[in-house]
Amino acid sequence: MIADYHMHPRGPGESIEHTLETVERYVEVARQRGIDEIGFTEHIYYFRETLDFWTVPYQYERCVYGLDAYCDSVLEAKRLGLPVKLGLEVDWVPGSVEALAELLGSYAWDYLLGSIHYVDGLGIDSRPTLIEELGAERAWERYFDDLALLAVSGLVDVLAHPDLIKFFGRRVDELLLNRIHDRFIGLLGDTGVALEISTAGRYKPIGELYPDRALLERGLARGVPITLASDAHASENVGRDLEQAIALARDVGYTTITIFEGRQGRQELLG
Ligand SMILES: [Zn+2]
Ligand SMILES: [Zn+2]
Repeated sequence: MIADYHMHPRGPGESIEHTLETVERYVEVARQRGIDEIGFTEHIYYFRETLDFWTVPYQYERCVYGLDAYCDSVLEAKRLGLPVKLGLEVDWVPGSVEALAELLGSYAWDYLLGSIHYVDGLGIDSRPTLIEELGAERAWERYFDDLALLAVSGLVDVLAHPDLIKFFGRRVDELLLNRIHDRFIGLLGDTGVALEISTAGRYKPIGELYPDRALLERGLARGVPITLASDAHASENVGRDLEQAIALARDVGYTTITIFEGRQGRQELLG
């Protein structure tokens, strides 16, 4: 089984297109690339129902689309028998877990991705950055502390691009990195929340998969499940480089990936 569980439905020029036709176009690319199932995970901040949650201009300025049209486009494809799942990429908003859970509770999600793109209004993969404000050591710690809080919140099923903090290439020394990884996996291991292996980082300044191999090794040892992801923002990028994510997972020792239906995960043989 190969599933790409992270993508954003877009038309020409990366225009937002929450339509059945776009879903069908993505499915066709997946089919050509031998991918068995794909999951759509639009950014939560594109939906006007969530406007009250955002304080960062990049997020509230995009908050103009309807959740129903997005969900219907994927659910209609599902009804037609296409191998698609309905998800959402949910940004962590400290203090808003209950309100977000209530809002999202009335939709038929197969799974929810959790992401941290901002901490205290500062960018993880955008400028001005948290690293410029706090320095690399403190920024890495803050990022992973928030990621652990997101995991234990119960709000999401998978952590997207888990070490996005490496986006710009600023790392911390191995001693601190090991301590950060240990503490994070220690908390994540009890939650059942999966880690995403994403190929998107190959096309960012860091030029690598997310997450580091060392984090996955600790995850495997603690029984943390995984998903695979391209984070495609265009149909031609569905499944992009997924073979590299699969190779890393296998190399670490993973033999299964998580398949979701109605927010229930199960393990299927990888590949
Ligand atoms: Zn993201
Ligand atoms: Zn994404």
